[in-house]
Amino acid sequence: MNIKKNDMVLVISGKDRGKKGKVRRSLPRDNRIVVEGLNMIKRHSRARRAARQAGIVELEAPLHASNVMLLCSKCKKPARVGFRTLEDGRKVRFCRTCQEVLD
Ligand SMILES: [Zn+2]
Repeated sequence: MNIKKNDMVLVISGKDRGKKGKVRRSLPRDNRIVVEGLNMIKRHSRARRAARQAGIVELEAPLHASNVMLLCSKCKKPARVGFRTLEDGRKVRFCRTCQEVLD
């Protein structure tokens, strides 16, 4: 998976297509990510404790990583991501449009 926490991404399919957001959580095992304010679902909850309010709660549902594109921090475009190994052995991501290293 080529998306990490705190990346800016563009949603390219589904009901939030065209929207941008920051990755709050990544779930590499499921190839999914949670994006701030996107892919909201409504959950109806009952107050179990006094602290918890009953009613409809909106939550962010995980999106599949293939439904988003990473936004390049340099050229600001949705980037196709490549991988490259640096001289010190680190594996980094880079933007195929402007060649900028993104990690
Ligand atoms: Zn770029």
